[in-house]
Amino acid sequence: MTFAIHGLAVARGIAIGRAVLVASSRVDVAHYFIEPSRVDAEIDRVRLGRNTVVEEIQRLQASIAHMGPKEAPHELSALLDVHLMLLQDEELVGGVKHWITDRLYNAEWALTTQLEVIARQFDEMEDEYLRERKADLEQIVEKVLRAMKGVASPVVAPVRASRTSQQDLLLDDTVDVPLILIAHDLSPADMLQFKKSVFAGFITDVGGKTSHTAIVARSMDIPAVVGARVSSQLVRQDDWVIIDGDAGVVVVDPSPIILAEYGFKQRQLELERGRLTRLLHTPAVTMDGQKIELLANIEMPEDALSAVKAGAVGVGLFRSEFLFMGRQGKLPNEEEQYQAYKRAIEGMQGLPVTIRTVDVGADKPLDKSLQDEAHLNPALGLRAIRWSLADPAMFLTQLRAILRAAAHGQAKLLIPMLVHASEIRQTLALIDHARAELDNRGIAYGAVKIGAMIEIPAAALTLKVFLKYFDFLSIGTNDLIQYTLAIDRADESVAHLYDPLHPAVLRLVAGTIAEAQAQGKEVSVCGEMAGDTTLTRLLLGMGLRSFSMHPAQILAVKQEVLRADAGKLAVWAEEVMADDEPGQRMTRH
Ligand code: PEP
Ligand code: MG
Repeated sequence: MTFAIHGLAVARGIAIGRAVLVASSRVDVAHYFIEPSRVDAEIDRVRLGRNTVVEEIQRLQASIAHMGPKEAPHELSALLDVHLMLLQDEELVGGVKHWITDRLYNAEWALTTQLEVIARQFDEMEDEYLRERKADLEQIVEKVLRAMKGVASPVVAPVRASRTSQQDLLLDDTVDVPLILIAHDLSPADMLQFKKSVFAGFITDVGGKTSHTAIVARSMDIPAVVGARVSSQLVRQDDWVIIDGDAGVVVVDPSPIILAEYGFKQRQLELERGRLTRLLHTPAVTMDGQKIELLANIEMPEDALSAVKAGAVGVGLFRSEFLFMGRQGKLPNEEEQYQAYKRAIEGMQGLPVTIRTVDVGADKPLDKSLQDEAHLNPALGLRAIRWSLADPAMFLTQLRAILRAAAHGQAKLLIPMLVHASEIRQTLALIDHARAELDNRGIAYGAVKIGAMIEIPAAALTLKVFLKYFDFLSIGTNDLIQYTLAIDRADESVAHLYDPLHPAVLRLVAGTIAEAQAQGKEVSVCGEMAGDTTLTRLLLGMGLRSFSMHPAQILAVKQEVLRADAGKLAVWAEEVMADDEPGQRMTRH
């Protein structure tokens, strides 16, 4: 039966494919396709893993057979029997074979997929005792996964994240069907892992529109919906689903008519995208001759390629923290970071690259295991520059790496979340210290302009001190909105109140632009507002001339720029900002 789930629109476009449910705790399991010739070998890997666990359990059974009830209670041997039974269960074994043979999933992926299928059945059982056996099943699958480690499949088939047209879908319903990942939650680090993956779309139950998980999904340029609440419970493994990334809607088990309608919409969007590529080499200049700088936001050095391809004139925000994530807390050393920054700088072929120092904390834990659950409000806690200043050795390592990379091209240094004058002075002193250390070591480094992010209201209200010390400013509207309106950007339950058009937000953004320009300092916006085409004209009207966004948004924003008259928009923007409810005036315009 067809039904729809409403969530938050995160990354544009339509994706049509089969659901792959992944438990949040299992996203680190490898997901790739195997070559058809490896099917038997892959099934063997699972069999070997399973046999190892069976032998382990049998050994344990033998060792407790002679013990008394005190050392080995009856429940223990009963539990081991259950584990053995589950391991041999035809539904598990047969299901795993199906995913490997018919869908060419690698062994680990097949095993966890079938686990999800059976776990769902356990959840639906009336009998409490049987329901609780789900935990046993999870335990034994975990053991098999562990036993399979070290016996990895040598063949990794090419990634298949690309869309297939609707006709192709109907022709071939086994392999080569796009896959849609559905999870309760995904951390930014998980998303990064999926960046080069097989999935053509993402759906998560939780998350806000500017949560970092959503931001990475957007950077992947594939349709995504977050905040879809109970989608991971309502959708079953392998269901057909449609993601409408523009409307934030997920359609489950679509009827042929709905499928045809979305297939048509998908092709229309592709045509529209194709048309936009004609603007690739057109300079971004408004109708009244204002030159606009369109920059890219990137997460990894390799993203520089998509930035150049999209026609970005530089990188306005390299979120360096993604180099630090998913490494079990082991931070990258100076050489590793230097090489990464150098790759990004060289990748931009002489265009400027703004590297932001590490911004971990809040919804960007270094690792899931290191998620900050100790503090009630991690978004207000030891995050970004606060984290860096609390660990000067780590911060100096990063600063040296950036300064060294700056010798290979145009680099700028950007500092997140500053608010106190004392933090500014400490930061600048550490940058000087990093230079002195490199001088002492006789290592070459380059000149960098130094900028501050304006993303806390207190910073936007005390710009004088920022303009005194910094060469440029970059407005982080994602956090600026979060902290101005007291709305957790990652919490879908208050997502409807997260409003870039709140008059207070507009006043802080416009004020920052005006004050920086009055002092002759460069100012840009690098939050998600910059890539939102419905806001381009308003930002132009506020005087903004530099926008930094996901590469995939650049051409659409350029189209808005080319159609705009900045002079006229300045008058209109004043009116919008004076409104009690600017949102309403925006829709009327
Ligand atoms: C912002 O806050 O707007 C920003 C660009 O930084 P991040 O989204 O990484 O917090
Ligand atoms: Mg921020």
